[in-house]
Amino acid sequence: MWVTIMPEWKNYELDFTITIDYEKCHACLPCVENCPTNVLEIDEEIEKAVPIRLDDCTECCACVLVCPEDAITHSSC
Ligand code: SF4
Ligand code: SF4
Repeated sequence: MWVTIMPEWKNYELDFTITIDYEKCHACLPCVENCPTNVLEIDEEIEKAVPIRLDDCTECCACVLVCPEDAITHSSC
């Protein structure tokens, strides 16, 4: 499967963007485990984190802070 290196997800209603650097992400889980609203999951097929419930994001920045690879960029953080 072809995977974009820097996929970006935009929430137009809340006006924020999450970008994950897939060259750095290695599905290690801290972002998934520390998101208080379960926005993120690991896509087992591509073995990368994906914000699948973008509307539930509270812009708390926990995912950005806990990622050991600095792979996540959040426009609100
Ligand atoms: S914490 Fe970072 S490297 Fe680990 S799965 Fe999440 S985005 Fe990927
Ligand atoms: S900013 Fe907070 S609520 Fe949004 S995806 Fe990251 S950890 Fe989850």
